Amino acid sequence: MSLNQLTIAELATRLASREISSREIMQSCLDQIARVDGKIHAFISYDAADALAQAETADRAIAAGAVHANRPLLGIPIAIKDVMAVQNQPLNCGSRVLGNFKSPYDATVIEKLKAAGAIVFGRCNMDEFAMGSSTENSAFGVTHNPWDTSRIPGGSSGGSAAAVAADETIASLGTDTGGSIRQPAALCGVVGLKPTYGRVSRYGLVAFASSLDQVGPFAKNVSDAAALLGVLSGHDPKDSTSVPHPVPNYANALDGNIRGLKLGLPKEYLVGGLDPEVKSAVDTAVKTFEKLGAQIVGISLPHTDYAVAVYYIIATAEASANLARFDGVRYGARVEGKDFWDLYSRTRGAGFGGEVKRRVILGTYVLSSGYHDAYYLRAQKVRTLIRRDFLNAFETVDAIVTPTSPTPAFKIGEKSGDPLQMYLSDIFTISCNLAGICGISVPCGFTQKPKLPIGLQLLGKPFGEETLLRLAHAYEQETSWHTHKPKLES
Ligand code: GLN
Repeated sequence: MSLNQLTIAELATRLASREISSREIMQSCLDQIARVDGKIHAFISYDAADALAQAETADRAIAAGAVHANRPLLGIPIAIKDVMAVQNQPLNCGSRVLGNFKSPYDATVIEKLKAAGAIVFGRCNMDEFAMGSSTENSAFGVTHNPWDTSRIPGGSSGGSAAAVAADETIASLGTDTGGSIRQPAALCGVVGLKPTYGRVSRYGLVAFASSLDQVGPFAKNVSDAAALLGVLSGHDPKDSTSVPHPVPNYANALDGNIRGLKLGLPKEYLVGGLDPEVKSAVDTAVKTFEKLGAQIVGISLPHTDYAVAVYYIIATAEASANLARFDGVRYGARVEGKDFWDLYSRTRGAGFGGEVKRRVILGTYVLSSGYHDAYYLRAQKVRTLIRRDFLNAFETVDAIVTPTSPTPAFKIGEKSGDPLQMYLSDIFTISCNLAGICGISVPCGFTQKPKLPIGLQLLGKPFGEETLLRLAHAYEQETSWHTHKPKLES
């Protein structure tokens, strides 16, 4: 296998023994990008010279005695969704509205990656302002699924997921507001983890829905995801919603022992519209967990039916407020007008795409006087009930298992004309964000024809990432789905 196909753990061992250099790893990723990204379009842009310079810095640090025990990502390329601030790099959020804006500072997660020695490179394509499930809503074009380029990679972090699946990077960061890490991870056949709300700092992440957004990793296996989560996690005085819980050593949870853990199977998740091949792969995965010693318990999450509706009220309400700042006055693209109202409306009219406009209008509506109580306030109350469903379930089970997405990757264009169909593709992932809990998606099989990845979702208690990683890792050790690679033609 070439270097770009290896995991963080494998590369760290070879770097430490000086068998390879970080420059060679980075070059191998850049070669793969040159070979396949014309078809995949996982990246909006990348700065090869800067990436190689960072790799050389890592090589010098290794030569001077720096070790992975202290800097776990030393010399490892990590690609970034275009919604996180990286100093002196473009920041567009998949939108035209930011023009040629460059970020003057690093997001906390970026600072942490850099401190851990990572090569932070590339701007991964995404649905505009993370609104979407297919990466078709980007001002920079569509990203294609590496397993079948006529299909979507999932979204909104489709570029980050596709880049890992196509071995264009070793790992990447995405964000998850309603499923945007887990769903594309499932559809691209990689591991994706959404941390508990408050586990990872949001400082320097451009906000979509502030009470739902979390940054998390995409990786080739569970242990790499654990390593990244360890780097990203922790309290940040710059984000008052980040929580001062100590960060565990997540690698310690990867001992393969899940005997006696209780896994909840919610009856509400066997919905119509669930693809039979997805259902059968998840059923088989559940049997594997049983075989490994976990106990399967039927549970109920009675307010599940309301999740999509509640999400599209709360997320759009928050988005309409958060996106007010893109007005062409202080930064980003500007379309001049006869007065400042005219300037605002021209700038926003030209700068935002259709889905973003739909959500700003919807969000403004649910917050408007007269409707605020009927929609926004009511949705907040139901959100509390949804969270309570999970907390009740977690009194009897250690984690919950579901499909990540009701279907495998669909065709480009198949749902883009029907927002409701698109919104329903997040039916299994959205509740996790509303409840503020953590979730992971791991590969659990493939459809027959065409061969498309299927993802298994595990949901955990608030700050229960160790249990999720323990379960996901034990499952991964027992199966080989994560080792399959798409056949990529250059
Ligand atoms: N697909 C969902 C949406 O369109 C979730 C997106 C996300 O998690 N950023 O809002």
